[in-house]
Parts: sequence; C-alpha cells; structure tokens
Amino acid sequence: MSVSHHARISHALQRWAVAGIDLLFPPRCATCGRAGRQICARCAQLVTPTPATICTRCGRVQPARVPSCAQCADDLDFPLDHVRAAALHTAPLREWIHLLKYEGRRDLAPALARYLTAALAGAEWATVRERIDAVVPTPLHAERLRTRGYNQAELLARGLCQQTGLSLRTNLLRREKLTQSQVGLNAAARKANVEGAFAAAPGCRGLHLLLIDDVYTTGATLQACARALRAAGAVRVYALTLALPNYHSSSMHHDLLHS
Ligand SMILES: [Zn+2]
Ligand SMILES: [Zn+2]
Repeated sequence: MSVSHHARISHALQRWAVAGIDLLFPPRCATCGRAGRQICARCAQLVTPTPATICTRCGRVQPARVPSCAQCADDLDFPLDHVRAAALHTAPLREWIHLLKYEGRRDLAPALARYLTAALAGAEWATVRERIDAVVPTPLHAERLRTRGYNQAELLARGLCQQTGLSLRTNLLRREKLTQSQVGLNAAARKANVEGAFAAAPGCRGLHLLLIDDVYTTGATLQACARALRAAGAVRVYALTLALPNYHSSSMHHDLLHS
C-alpha cells in the first residue's frame, strides 16, 4: 500500500470519527434539548424583542415612547448617549444568560451575540452605529475573572465584533474595585456599590465607544463605566445589552389584576 493511499484512508477514517462524534453527541438546544444546535430555531422565536415604547434617553420600557422618564429625568448628567437592550429579560433568553453566566456555557455566546448584532442593525441604531470607533465589554474584576474563568460580557462583545466587523477593545476599561454582586440590591445601593469601581485608559480619548453587557438592570454598572470612560476623554459612550427587565408590563399586569 502506498503512503498516499494510506494517508487517504487515515484521513477518511478521521472524518468518519469526527462525524461519528457529532452523531453520538450532536449539539442540543440549551432549553428544549432538541438536537441540532445550542439554541434551536423554535426556542429562538420565543425571545421578545424590546418594544418601541421605551424612554429614548435611558432605554427603559415605558407605557409609551417618551424622551425621558421618572427613572432618568432627575439625572442631569446621565453619562450614556444612547442605551438600548436587544430583548426583554424573559424566558428563554433569561435562562440562556443564566447558563452563560453561571453554568459555564460559554459556547452559547456566539448565538446570543446574534441578538446584539440584529439590534445594532435596526432603526434604533441607524444614526449612532456609523460613529462607533470600538466596542468595550463591561469588565469583571480580576479576582472574579479568575473564579469564573471568563467574562461573559467580553464573549458577547467578541461575538458581536466577529459578526459586524467592529473592533473589540478590552484594554480601555478596568474594574478596580471588587464589588459585591448587584443581585438583590435596590437602585440606590447598586449605584453606591459600583461608584468609582472602574478606571479607563487614556487610549479612549476622542473615541465613540459602545459598551456591551448581558443585562441592563438599573443601569448603575453601565453608567459607572460610561462616567469612567468619559472622564478619560471618550467623546460619546453608547450601550447595548442583551436583555432588559420588563418593569412596565409586570406593573401593568399587576394593575390589570387589581382593577
Ligand atoms: Zn429549543
Ligand atoms: Zn428614562
């Protein structure tokens, strides 16, 4: 048997082996278990895009589309120039974010980043997206990065940049203060918790930057990041998150139930 013939056979065997692994362990939908991909088409359709009825200043869901709202009207130096979320923080997106963040499912990041890419291609970003110089993920403190092993916001930002051609900059912003988890804190406590937690590099001078994070809860983290970037000379700071809690519909639902 010639060497090349031998090589061809072993190459074919290798391909069979790879195909065999895929047949035995095909990727499965993280939600429903359907074989094929990590997020199946049927579950992907259950994601609820952010409605048009938002506060256009802070991006939060409102009863109508308004230029400012009760949550941001008092904030005279609101540091973000444009902040939006791709979708509502409801099932199944909420579960996928949980898996990505707490269950080590970093393989979900490229599929989830598709929602960021789709949002950025939408009308909400038409005037802003052309000005973006770089994409900056919300950083984790070095110690938290060591325990988790990765920064989920960075994985999302990386996916977005691969899908859009925007450039990723992970060296412009650092988390210096190891803050306690924001989970369970109210808006004022969240704000105090992240106050002064971030430091930006002089390299952001003159730039228009797009911050990326997984969830827009009170916006305290995004605002603290934006303040640090602007203090270091960034001209504009925009923010795009994967998910946004639907405060309005839950309170409306409450009102409907009790009226
Ligand atoms: Zn599914
Ligand atoms: Zn607002």
